[in-house]
Amino acid sequence: MAAKLTEPHRLLGLTRAADLVLHLPLRFEDETRLTPFAALRPGEVAQVEGVLTHKEQQRGSRSQLLFEIEDATQQRLRIRLLHFRPNQAAALTPGVTVRAFGEARPGLFGMEMVHPRYRVLRPSTALPKTLTPVYPSVAALSQYRLRQAIDAALDRAELADSLPEPLRQRLGLPEFAATLRFLHHPPANADTTLLELRQGPAWARLKFDELLAQQISLQRAAALRQHQPAVPLDDVEALSPRLLAALPFTLTAAQARCLDEIRADLAAPHPMHRLLQGDVGSGKTCVAAACAALAVGSGRQAALMAPTELLAEQLYQKLHDWFTPLGVAVVWLSSAVRGKARSAALATLADGSAAIAVGTHALIQDDVSFARLGLVIVDEQHRFGVEQRLALRSKSETTLPHLLMMSATPIPRTLAMSYYADLAISSIDSLPPGRTPIETRVMSDARRPEVIARLAEFCAGGGQAYWVCPLIEESEKLDLKAAIDTHAEIRAALPQLVIGLVHGRMKAAEKAAVMAAFKAGAINVLVATTVIEVGVDVPNARLMVIEHAERMGLAQMHQLRGRVGRGARASSCLLIYSNPIGAVARERLAILKDSQDGFAIARHDLRLRGPGERLGARQSGQQLLRFADIEADAPMLEPAGQAAAELLRNHPDAVARHLDRWLPGGEARLYA
Ligand code: ADP
Ligand code: MG
Repeated sequence: MAAKLTEPHRLLGLTRAADLVLHLPLRFEDETRLTPFAALRPGEVAQVEGVLTHKEQQRGSRSQLLFEIEDATQQRLRIRLLHFRPNQAAALTPGVTVRAFGEARPGLFGMEMVHPRYRVLRPSTALPKTLTPVYPSVAALSQYRLRQAIDAALDRAELADSLPEPLRQRLGLPEFAATLRFLHHPPANADTTLLELRQGPAWARLKFDELLAQQISLQRAAALRQHQPAVPLDDVEALSPRLLAALPFTLTAAQARCLDEIRADLAAPHPMHRLLQGDVGSGKTCVAAACAALAVGSGRQAALMAPTELLAEQLYQKLHDWFTPLGVAVVWLSSAVRGKARSAALATLADGSAAIAVGTHALIQDDVSFARLGLVIVDEQHRFGVEQRLALRSKSETTLPHLLMMSATPIPRTLAMSYYADLAISSIDSLPPGRTPIETRVMSDARRPEVIARLAEFCAGGGQAYWVCPLIEESEKLDLKAAIDTHAEIRAALPQLVIGLVHGRMKAAEKAAVMAAFKAGAINVLVATTVIEVGVDVPNARLMVIEHAERMGLAQMHQLRGRVGRGARASSCLLIYSNPIGAVARERLAILKDSQDGFAIARHDLRLRGPGERLGARQSGQQLLRFADIEADAPMLEPAGQAAAELLRNHPDAVARHLDRWLPGGEARLYA
């Protein structure tokens, strides 16, 4: 409903009564009782009332208005106003009753209040029965006016419950209207700490409602999708088996199972929504390639998008190597591909002569179009925003393409529920054979000479090593300098060895040449920026040193570490930190030392880093939520999902009311 409310709250973007009632207090002030002057304690915020007995105005550079009030017990209290208007001063005459709310402080003549909020009122004016809300606001909008607007809205807005009564009772949640009245005007004895922490039954109801709106939207979008046609990818040309036969290994049981699950989805005439998750090194790439082959073998195109140039390039390299012998053209697109090369690449995608596109965000530019896109694969999906993922999917002119997302970071079921109601998950839950555990040690930078000695010894025995310098996201230049300096340092320390350098600023061909030399054994130690996160496999590289480990994310280091331990012989990883290092940083490094399980590492990382930077969930599930927290309130998601299904099935009116309340003006489409 669009009750028309005039002015001030529009400053806060609150246009409807329904929006105003969901603008909730930050905290409360207790104006329900009066404190006798004798009971005032220094520093305590209190409400007092008394009759004005004496007033004096101090002029000069710091004009002040001083007055005294007397309470029922004949105690007196001084009040000092630091700035005031003439009409305010005039209203404060002896005999009037003054009610003030402020902090008591010891003064020269006993307790006083400096510049409290005050009102002149008729004697024995009733006290409010409920706590006074303090709302988030802006300077131009006073609490007083905002309260008025919200109170008016509470009277006017449609507060009918959107949960059918039996369902509400089953969930044990309070009524909607009562919840709002309580949250805006809690009784004097309410637990304000709990309210300010946004906990307790009333807040649970609001958070539930918000999640319910999300779940309704997601389920509706999913239902629409499930009725939308997609081209079944049945691989009539049997390209996928040919690709698998040409790989230098056979799929592990876990890979084969995941591929079967995906193949079944792709054979259906509706768009797939599946997440393929598996720890770093679990072999997602060849499963993705087999999926691309299923599309191409069905006369369709496949597009693979990765979040960084390097990840994308690595993907491209592998797909190019695997598909070219099968006569399938793979096209590379990144922001570095410009001019004629770009036009040529775009032309082959638009006319269908290239079957597979691999690239970065460059794939979702407006001028990229596909002749017959059948499958979209998004690697490291959590590093993309919702819009970006949707943008690639919308590249198909006619029917929706199937969507496969991939992630090395495990996504709890509840989080997945906040991405897509119909997201299916396949997990590659074991690593390919022949991996040996990596011995990980944590050392201070003070022991650098020892590390270099160990490196020398290791290389003398024929081993090869990586020396990784940290990625400093904000400054690629510094990043580069660190790598260049370290390269020079190690070269000087170990003149008998060949020390290579690879970093993100090098041209693709240069990088490839260095990596090839390393793979061929012509380089002993490769100093690198985090480029090698995605570097080629070098089974003989069995030692990795990671500098400034305290600065890096655990998941990222786990990925890096995955570059060693590829052969049958034992490998090790040295995590070097610079002092000073905090307790949490120390604990983080210990986790990496003790665990090789990417899922467990991700969980710990989450726990230690706390809210804020979690699994990229903020980019999707969280971004439209005001009150609920995707992780803290995860236990509510499952019941919210069930309630959403029930409402969609049996209570269309309630659905309409609920979405209008929580996602007005078509915001629900953001969940599509
Ligand atoms: P991620 O899941 O981290 O993307 P990759 O797909 O890059 O992992 O695979 C990691 C390495 O494991 C690659 O070198 C790949 O060739 C190898 N690999 C993948 N599957 C198998 C397998 N079934 N047997 C042996 N090696 C495999
Ligand atoms: Mg990968």
